[in-house]
Amino acid sequence: MEQVLHLQHVSYTYHTLDGETLALSDISFSLNKGEFIAIVGPSGCGKSTLLSLICGLLPLEQGMIRINGKMLRESTTNVGYMLQHDELFEWRTIYNNVILGLEVQHALTARTRKHAHELLGIYGLGDFENSRPSELSGGMRQRVALIRTLVLDPEILLLDEPFSALDYQTRLQVGDDIGQILRKEGKSALLVTHDLSEAISLADRVIVLSRRPATIKQTIPLVFKLDEDTPMNRRNAPEFKTYFNLVWKELNEDEASARENI
Ligand code: ADP
Ligand code: MG
Repeated sequence: MEQVLHLQHVSYTYHTLDGETLALSDISFSLNKGEFIAIVGPSGCGKSTLLSLICGLLPLEQGMIRINGKMLRESTTNVGYMLQHDELFEWRTIYNNVILGLEVQHALTARTRKHAHELLGIYGLGDFENSRPSELSGGMRQRVALIRTLVLDPEILLLDEPFSALDYQTRLQVGDDIGQILRKEGKSALLVTHDLSEAISLADRVIVLSRRPATIKQTIPLVFKLDEDTPMNRRNAPEFKTYFNLVWKELNEDEASARENI
């Protein structure tokens, strides 16, 4: 299977005036082309740090990251990063928010403009191209943020708790939506979430991280016997509960041993 992302023995330490904080310790895994991996772990364990290293926001000091076979620094692969808050600009229309990244990258052409219109149309935002972000619901804004990332045609998408600012109902809908969009577009993605149901309903594999410094505790492949593999069908499938308990147990073993140390 073709690997789009490969991490080997990646560790990371924050250096501050107060001292050193080891955030990641010896992380190794691969993301295959078209695969969707969910990363779960306790708050503050190092999940955002991991994504920041992969997209080059933090310098890699220990270990190796390869994207499409090339070392991170030499890689020209476009990595899309989507954050918790949609960060749309109110002074721009929805369409102009979507093409912002293209403008910045000097990649605004007739073809990419057309692609932006198409994506907005396909994903139900065609009538809102000239609206302002404040006129849209939280879920719609999150979809706009995803389209803004997709229009840059990234090969790998990094999603850092992208739904956590939404209320529960919207979060389910948008999570399902975005999962389907990514599958349809054939993207490889890493989704950081603290919501186990979200991870299990969307991903091909779940990576469970330990408390800080994050190490990989367990990698759990998710296999559902379904005619139509959608997030909604997964939530109703008998395997769902089994996986939920498995991931929960992995996470809580950690919590239990932490309590013993108090
Ligand atoms: P998560 O996303 O899993 O909640 P982070 O990756 O944001 O966790 O942070 C992991 C740990 O690294 C945190 O517990 C914090 O102590 C430390 N950390 C994060 N950012 C910084 C920073 N800029 N400077 C120093 N320490 C940091
Ligand atoms: Mg985080």
